[in-house]
Amino acid sequence: MRTLVTLRPPGADEVVLVAEDGYWSEPDAGPIDEAYETHGLWALPGLADAHAHLSADEMTLTPGDPDEIRRRAFACVQAGVFLALDKGWGDDAVLRLFDEPPDRRPDLEAAGRMIATPGGYYPGFAEEVDEEQLADAVARAASRRGGWVKIVGDWPRRGEGPRVNFSFEALEAAVRIAHAAGARVAIHTMAREAPSMAVAAGVDSIEHGLFLTEDDLAALAGRGGMWVPTLLRMEAVRDELREGSSGRRLLGEGLANVAALLPVAERLGVTVLAGSDLAVPARRVAAEAARLAEVGLSPVAAVAAVSHAAFAATGRDVGFRPGFPADAVFFDRDPTEDVGILGRPALVLRRGRRVPAD
Ligand SMILES: [Zn+2]
Repeated sequence: MRTLVTLRPPGADEVVLVAEDGYWSEPDAGPIDEAYETHGLWALPGLADAHAHLSADEMTLTPGDPDEIRRRAFACVQAGVFLALDKGWGDDAVLRLFDEPPDRRPDLEAAGRMIATPGGYYPGFAEEVDEEQLADAVARAASRRGGWVKIVGDWPRRGEGPRVNFSFEALEAAVRIAHAAGARVAIHTMAREAPSMAVAAGVDSIEHGLFLTEDDLAALAGRGGMWVPTLLRMEAVRDELREGSSGRRLLGEGLANVAALLPVAERLGVTVLAGSDLAVPARRVAAEAARLAEVGLSPVAAVAAVSHAAFAATGRDVGFRPGFPADAVFFDRDPTEDVGILGRPALVLRRGRRVPAD
């Protein structure tokens, strides 16, 4: 089956390709069996969720259910989300998604079970290790097939406020060990101190990062590091905290810092990425991109944050060229002029086939 498809990426020329056996090929290479009516639409090679938790739609603290994970993964494909970076859970259930075919799930990278200290996260949820045990825990996590290790960098202690979980030296060693095993490191940090420490230690992706500094951004930009602010999630956490509490004040300050930093990050060329992080289901990560545009990114950067930038940062060469996977998400309007349209694709093609809407 050879299907003719017209593809117009925002800001670029229209191309006409044929989807055949899941890959793009040149239209003149043989007879055409059918054509999709995509002329006049705008196309992206897929959306990406850089901070997903496919094990749940909210913070349930329960084990991942393989059937539910598969259901959420297919819902991502239906929404045009073709890459999910799962930033960890209380178990490794999400790693079984690698056994599913690519038309049933997004391309996946996943951290499996997170790593924290005793008292440094929800009790018993992450693997809890002390400073001296971190290196071994990271080596084990990096040897799983997900490609990521997720460390909880800071966490509030009752009556004390947020505390850093691991030292700079421990984080630096963790990064070295993970990289040697071919894995990347992501760190959860919402408070002060840990983000700068993590950037200096070489951590690949800063999750939330409410208290990053301009110097941190310059360092991240220089080495292709990622920042996933998860604005919708941070705003939801702030709103759940009691009015006038120190936690709510801290998150408010952090969110103001993020708003001030987003244009700086864009100017410096930092890889800012959109992540759903349970604020919305992973398939609705487009809402986070829209929020990034409202708060401080240009529309072009917000679209990149939920598409190209995530593919590029994880070493994926995607695009509308012969030989590449025939993946495309189509929109009625140019998303770089209307970021909100990202949540309402007109047509989704995964490996050359139309994906039925949910
Ligand atoms: Zn998260």
